Amino acid sequence: MLNRRELNRAALCIALGAWALPRPSNGQEAPRWRSDPFGLGVASGMPREGSVVLWTRLAPLGEESAERDARPPCQVRWEVFADEALRQRVAAGEQVTDAARAFSVHVQVNGLAPQRSYWYRFTCGDAASPVGRTRTAPAAGAAVARLRLALASCQHYEYGFYAAHREIAGRDLDAVVFVGDYIYEGHIGPSLAQRRHDGPVPLTLDEYRARHAHYKRDADLQAAHAAHPWILTWDDHEVVNDYASDREPAPTGTEQFLRRRAAAYRAYFEHMPLALAPQGPDMRIHDRFAWGDLADIWTLDCRQYRSHHACADPQMDHGRMLTNCAELADPARTMLGTAQERWLAEGVATSKARWKLLAQSTQVSATSIETAQGRQTWTDGWDGYPVARQRMLQAMADAKLRNAVTLGGDVHRFIAADLRVRPNEADSPVVASEFVGGSVTSRGASRAAMDKMRLDNPDIAHARGDERGYAFLDIDRGAARCEFRATPHPALKDAPLGRQALYVVEDGRAGVMAG
Ligand code: FE
Ligand code: CA
Repeated sequence: MLNRRELNRAALCIALGAWALPRPSNGQEAPRWRSDPFGLGVASGMPREGSVVLWTRLAPLGEESAERDARPPCQVRWEVFADEALRQRVAAGEQVTDAARAFSVHVQVNGLAPQRSYWYRFTCGDAASPVGRTRTAPAAGAAVARLRLALASCQHYEYGFYAAHREIAGRDLDAVVFVGDYIYEGHIGPSLAQRRHDGPVPLTLDEYRARHAHYKRDADLQAAHAAHPWILTWDDHEVVNDYASDREPAPTGTEQFLRRRAAAYRAYFEHMPLALAPQGPDMRIHDRFAWGDLADIWTLDCRQYRSHHACADPQMDHGRMLTNCAELADPARTMLGTAQERWLAEGVATSKARWKLLAQSTQVSATSIETAQGRQTWTDGWDGYPVARQRMLQAMADAKLRNAVTLGGDVHRFIAADLRVRPNEADSPVVASEFVGGSVTSRGASRAAMDKMRLDNPDIAHARGDERGYAFLDIDRGAARCEFRATPHPALKDAPLGRQALYVVEDGRAGVMAG
């Protein structure tokens, strides 16, 4: 009988095996490259007790898709070392990649020691990749004193530079948790743009590949990937703004949108250190990571399985600010989908870890505001799924869960908030805490707008949308500390980041406190 961990590992091997179909052809010549094929950098992710996933993609600068499609399969060698000087090699192997996967390489490396740094590189023909550093998770149940994470999201290329990633790359961290809007499909007005996307708004697989490659050529983003393993989930812009399961804002029809979603998910997988390849328009991204006895980390998928927007505009179904939408109260509405919701409720209820971290794409705390027309609610976030939010928080209350903290993105603001089953009602106990880690570059709301939101929602302790950055989480047995690291909008190339605020959740006491 395999235990659960072995089963998971077997499933990963099968998934990667199915993805890596081509076999080395005999007598194949080692390629000689005219330009560096490793210009997109290297990455690692999915840190487990004895394993990580390594990633790269061979993409010589300026190579056209027709040229790429004509290139024969090639063999890529990967090596893992126990030391930064690359003297003690502990694992190595070869993998063949080809045009069908855009020459991406995903390697699941097993048999590593827990809670340890490793260095890795790829070679192909006469080319060698930059060296990446990664880190495995501690052994299951091991006594772990400390966990340090960067929480980041929302890196619209055109709004500015990745100063946040430059700082993240230089920090001593266990992992980066990135919760979505890794790429943006759309463009912004020329007066706002600090730099430009190239190519059209992506609709096809090749267009999504080009957009991902464009982002990956940023040196600061590459450095953050090369410095730490990443734990990933996505939000909407990896496909299209405000999509909800099988529907996008434009009335294109389900079949056509699912073709677009399949292209977007596939390009996403091809550019990320992930193990489970998509099957057509479906891709499993929600997952669970353990950090010894200190923390369990869930990554949630808030896009693929959600109900369509409440009170949707049939002409253009974006999220909306609405008053008096009765559909919001429909208990059949779901944010996570039934299966993921049950999986999460069971997981958190049985978790033995001290901290339960729920990494998901948007803001959990209520944000609706008082207006002359009544209370206005934004329908694309958790506020658009209030009964599902209540179920999630009630499940935590029922399980008498200690130390649950949600980590979010999407809204381009730094948030520290208390989470109650009935938001903002003082007689509903605080059952969990929330941090939203700002945005790396994407523009957020003004201070006045955030002050108004905070005034109308007393559960929110901190709300700033006028600066860019990320959150640094330093977690030990006694407390989870969250430092908001920020620079004024827009983030400039050499912008230094500073402390915007520090909030603390103490062990055994739900809710955020200014630190
Ligand atoms: Fe965003
Ligand atoms: Ca978003």
